Amino acid sequence: MADTDLAARLEAIVGPENVLQGEPARRAFTGDQSWVSIVSAAAGQSLSRQDLIVKVSTTGEVSEVLKIANGSKTPVTPLGGGSGVQGAANADRGGILLDLRGMDRIRSIDERSLTATVECGVNCARLEAELNENDLRFTHYPASAEWASIGGCITARGSGVLSSKYGKIEDHVLSLEIVLPTGEVVHTPSVPRHAAGPELAQLMVGSEGTLGIVTAATLQLRRLPAKQVFLCFAFDHLEDGVAAGREIMLSGLRPAVMRLYDGSSAAGSLEKVVAAGLDGPTFVLMCDGEVPGVVDAEAVAVAAILAAHGGRDFGGEVGEKWWENRYAFYHAPHAPELPAMWATLDVVADFSHIEGVYRDVTKAIRAAAGVDANLSLGTHFSHWYPWGSMIYARFKITPAPDRLEDALALHDKIIREGTRAALAAGAVLNDHHGVGTRLAPYLGDQLGAAGMLMLTRVKQGLDPNGVLAPGKLGLPAD
Ligand SMILES: Cc1cc2nc3c(=O)[nH]c(=O)nc-3n(C[C@H](O)[C@H](O)[C@H](O)COP(=O)(O)OP(=O)(O)OC[C@H]3O[C@@H](n4cnc5c(N)ncnc54)[C@H](O)[C@@H]3O)c2cc1C
Repeated sequence: MADTDLAARLEAIVGPENVLQGEPARRAFTGDQSWVSIVSAAAGQSLSRQDLIVKVSTTGEVSEVLKIANGSKTPVTPLGGGSGVQGAANADRGGILLDLRGMDRIRSIDERSLTATVECGVNCARLEAELNENDLRFTHYPASAEWASIGGCITARGSGVLSSKYGKIEDHVLSLEIVLPTGEVVHTPSVPRHAAGPELAQLMVGSEGTLGIVTAATLQLRRLPAKQVFLCFAFDHLEDGVAAGREIMLSGLRPAVMRLYDGSSAAGSLEKVVAAGLDGPTFVLMCDGEVPGVVDAEAVAVAAILAAHGGRDFGGEVGEKWWENRYAFYHAPHAPELPAMWATLDVVADFSHIEGVYRDVTKAIRAAAGVDANLSLGTHFSHWYPWGSMIYARFKITPAPDRLEDALALHDKIIREGTRAALAAGAVLNDHHGVGTRLAPYLGDQLGAAGMLMLTRVKQGLDPNGVLAPGKLGLPAD
């Protein structure tokens, strides 16, 4: 239970209307968008168990709230859009859920440098719509744009569909305004490429609420493209598609969209959304830019590489339909719902390992699900780097076991076996969804004892009372 003195002190900062307590606080947020949170909430056992929700709308309020929390050793879990899928935004230790959605101002746009300074609670889709009105864009388009906040994208270290050309969120961040767990406000250097010591902004990227609150960010913008060219090629063998993708990246070409669907993903998911008959592993690509001749030339060179690796040209229509319907995958009738179980393992590796990672992770998921499960498993390679790629392996079991404990145990077994297989095959355990509680038990395997010690010392130095997001990232909770 929240102590009344604490609630009164918080009300004095943000106003009584912005502090929820007890049952209203519990009901207002039951958990993030992971299947584990959704199924637990449906069973009346919500994973987010905050005693208080505090809605803030200024950096000063965040600072004052954190000073009180730090002084009273009250856990604080930051909440952006709540669209995470790793359990990171769940206030599973009680205390305060810090609702940042009221920090939703676009503070300034610098049209000369093509940057914007925005507050952390700004919704991605809204930012994009407002920029588009001025012929600008923020080239970070997560599939969850309608729910996700800028602060959540940064602290979960996310990625968008244009990442192969424009980079992950870390490549879009110039500087940050941060409130430390003890309440001090930090402004990192105005540009990220400097030699003024380690880049403090990057320390916050992927910190998942454990090291401070990102209250505002200065972000790289771009102008709207003058031209987009869509491509779609089918392959007899997935390895040929992977080899083509590798060659595209190594040759310095940079399609903005590069999504290679394996056979079951193309047949089970892509085919339905684009309403086209597909034929085995399918590569959807899009080249964009401001100089039409350059975009055309890049698309011709990309197509030549795909064809040289055995790709059959399906024409651009499928790619264009994918682009227009890219959010449909996450809504009815295409998105999974209860009583099914679903989750994704998105892991990343270099080209020397990525095919082994694909083979071992998909095999481990199938083995862990068991022969009796009605499993569907589709995988795509959707973010490409000059050195490798990621795989996004999404499984669904219909229906999940009836008893909640059995269903959760099966889910955890699949995540455990899949993650262990990924690590053993040379992958890094996550590409863009973050760690949260789902992967927390395995971060030590990823970083090693000395790596966890380093992270723990950073945490203890910044947050001596351990109030921010306790237990997340596999960090000691006390
Ligand atoms: C259907 C669907 C599709 C998705 N597709 C993508 C995708 O394409 N790419 C991708 O990267 N992710 C994707 N995700 C995952 C999720 O949307 C991202 O992780 C997103 O970045 C989370 O943003 P959020 O604002 O909802 O954060 P939340 O879920 O609210 O929080 C995520 C983490 O960040 C912390 N946090 C939030 N805001 C702050 C802040 N201002 N300061 C400090 N800590 C903070 C939280 O405590 C938590 O640890 C998808 C999710 C769903 C449900």
